[in-house]
Amino acid sequence: MTSTAKNLVVLGAGTAGTMVVNKLRRDLPTEDWTITVVDRDDIHDYQPGYLFLPFGMTAPDQVRRHTRPLIADGVELVLAEVDRVDAAAKAVRLAGGRVLAYDQLVIATGTTPRPDQVPGTLGPQWHHEVGEFYTYEGALALRRRLAGFSGGRLVVHITEMPIKCPVAPLEFAFLADDFLTRRGLRDRTELVFVTPLDGAFTKPVASLALGSLLAGKGITVEPDFMIERIDQDRKVIVSYDEREIAYDQLVTVPLNMGADFVARSGLGDELNYVPVDKHTMQSTAHPEIWALGDAGNLPTSKAGSVAHFSVEVFVENFLEQAAGRPMTHSFDGHANCFVESGHGKALLLDFNYETQPLTGHFPFPKVGPMTLLGESRANHLGKLAFRHVYWNALLPGRPLGLRADMSMTGKNPV
Ligand SMILES: Cc1cc2nc3c(=O)[nH]c(=O)nc-3n(C[C@H](O)[C@H](O)[C@H](O)COP(=O)(O)OP(=O)(O)OC[C@H]3O[C@@H](n4cnc5c(N)ncnc54)[C@H](O)[C@@H]3O)c2cc1C
Repeated sequence: MTSTAKNLVVLGAGTAGTMVVNKLRRDLPTEDWTITVVDRDDIHDYQPGYLFLPFGMTAPDQVRRHTRPLIADGVELVLAEVDRVDAAAKAVRLAGGRVLAYDQLVIATGTTPRPDQVPGTLGPQWHHEVGEFYTYEGALALRRRLAGFSGGRLVVHITEMPIKCPVAPLEFAFLADDFLTRRGLRDRTELVFVTPLDGAFTKPVASLALGSLLAGKGITVEPDFMIERIDQDRKVIVSYDEREIAYDQLVTVPLNMGADFVARSGLGDELNYVPVDKHTMQSTAHPEIWALGDAGNLPTSKAGSVAHFSVEVFVENFLEQAAGRPMTHSFDGHANCFVESGHGKALLLDFNYETQPLTGHFPFPKVGPMTLLGESRANHLGKLAFRHVYWNALLPGRPLGLRADMSMTGKNPV
């Protein structure tokens, strides 16, 4: 007897992929839908923890778990590299030759730092004088470097936007200031923040607030820097307009790109992101393909919080469609990002497609306990607590009691 069940295939078992299969397995009858999730390995990292690793503020085993136990019973986990999607045949080819047919396909393969894209990055000093914290290995290597750092020019550098967690490089600079102060090295260190943007951040009110924090901590900003190459012999980064910035320790955030198979399959833009409808995450080219999390080209931050809120909307719409009804839910671009500012404090940004981050209190007016665009200890504790929420509630797909859409409650209008 042949099965009449439809196939949902999800590529990527990271934040978005894990949430979506766990939520949908609960709601879709097994006789109607098979669910398969593919990932290249059995490792799941809590990536926000990479920020804390270099400063010894978290232990390596707190950010890394095996994937398999995180996936619900009744979901098939396939460990393989995705080779390509044949959208016309509705099939995914995996490295090794296995082919998965799908009725609905979710691309959730995220975005990856690509140090190979800037000449000179992958020289002999890679993960030594030229460091990064956007991978587990890079964050651990930087931890060793900072443990032996005795002062000099520490340069934090962003190659190009968009990057996942666009505030993470700022957080790194703030935490470096704190770390060096505590070790008595701040007077002997020049901290420099180099960005392709014209200010500290992309959104005007937040850029002003974060820019004044940088200034207050004595961190020099080098704006409008479009890197052309890294010269590891001379220890300088060079821009297209021949500006040079010297470093003793460089911490670079490489260009971020979607997965190469997206390009090979003809499904991506110039950075391998899948063009989608910004309210439904449905591919603009193929109605049975969706891109969730960092893999799509949503015009909002690439962040775990965006993956979370957009997955909530996607699941509601998917269930409506599966029941033969029209989709009625719409994602508003909601992002909610903690910004560690050092010395046990953090800021909180809450925004969406239409509303930039504003000052105020979150989630309740006047009492918070979180402060929007202002430093507080409550924000810092919220950021630290999120790791437990991630492993124990977010990934299993349990309701967190947070609205998927942004609320204006507690926000001060500009
Ligand atoms: C340093 C740092 C700090 C961060 N801090 C925060 C924060 O404070 N708050 C926040 O909201 N977000 C933060 N983020 C961002 C957040 O981690 C990501 O936005 C989120 O994980 C995106 O989820 P995703 O499912 O789209 O991608 P991912 O979680 O990256 O998952 C993608 C998955 O796809 C798999 N994959 C990729 N290509 C292939 C292939 N070809 N074949 C098979 N499998 C493949 C990968 O193995 C991976 O498991 C941070 C990120 C970094 C790097």
